[in-house]
Amino acid sequence: MAEPLVTRRGTLAVPTFLPDATRAGVRGASSEDLRGIGIEGVVVNAFHLLRRPGARVVQAAGGIHRFMDWSGPILSDSGGFQVWSLIRQDPNRGVIRDNEVIFREPSTGEKWNLTPERIISLQFQLGSDIVVCLDDCTDAGDPEPEQERSVERTVRWARRCREEFDRQLAERGMVDVPRIFAVVQGGAVEALRRQCAVALAEIGFDGYGFGGWPLDGDGGLLSEPMGWVAESLPSAAPKHALGIGRPDHVVKAFGLGYSIFDCALPTRDARHGRLYAFREGWSDRRPSVGDHFYRAVRIHDPEYRIDHGPIEEGCDCPLCTRHSAAYLHHLFKVGDLSAERLATLHNLRFYVRLFGLLRG
Ligand SMILES: [Zn+2]
Repeated sequence: MAEPLVTRRGTLAVPTFLPDATRAGVRGASSEDLRGIGIEGVVVNAFHLLRRPGARVVQAAGGIHRFMDWSGPILSDSGGFQVWSLIRQDPNRGVIRDNEVIFREPSTGEKWNLTPERIISLQFQLGSDIVVCLDDCTDAGDPEPEQERSVERTVRWARRCREEFDRQLAERGMVDVPRIFAVVQGGAVEALRRQCAVALAEIGFDGYGFGGWPLDGDGGLLSEPMGWVAESLPSAAPKHALGIGRPDHVVKAFGLGYSIFDCALPTRDARHGRLYAFREGWSDRRPSVGDHFYRAVRIHDPEYRIDHGPIEEGCDCPLCTRHSAAYLHHLFKVGDLSAERLATLHNLRFYVRLFGLLRG
């Protein structure tokens, strides 16, 4: 059983789900909303915050916690994944080199020069509780030479991140220190995944993430590579399944030893009117791999126009305790902004309940 995750702003019981507050806000929900439904920590994205509003603005606000009114633990993702996907979609946006990443802002032409050191010092400026190393992402389908290069860079960058992290701690004379996570690459190549995990563990970090695009071509979880990585890392080390969030994927990854999850899926789905609900008889049972424990409610479907029951009988979220499925269907139909908020709170509450069941 994984140990609780101790941070300078509180201890997170595991497994824990940290919603994505990518640009310092969980879309559609306030910090007060999140606290009300039992969310304990959030993930922000250092790279996106560097672009907007900029580190100085957050620093002048007194740090990321004050800026967004969140007193619980905040993990800041480095943005390695985001910068890689943006450049992959459009190579004119920048280039990833052995020593740095150059990113050009398409709208303004502004140029960002991202180095491992810069990304770490940025996360100190934000005041994050869990700092994440810059990594060089790949897709599991990319050829092996690319995976090899990505592992080499990722390990080299992680060493530079660790050194910068230690330098920042010494320079700032910090007592309440943040933690630092590294991210394992290697695509779907067993030897590379294991080699990367072992090399990062030798450098020594407080936790490790499973990096790269986490799904195969059919949308299935990369369970085998996730298993190799978990096996090759110290067993007690916290393991972060980056960007993994489909409820059945969570159950699978948790079984493989991962205990920290973040994903935009529940909030994005909510905004599109896709809600999660436990199937009858599953709201108080711990699900195992292969169990059909939840269903998706597509609130736009005409059947909900006259469904005056809650989305899920027994759900204690602000939506289900006060409103019917028919009311939510109506709010979406007329474009009322509260539709997205209520759906978001329901989905996040579903995750809090699911993670409670997995904790046992
Ligand atoms: Zn609900």
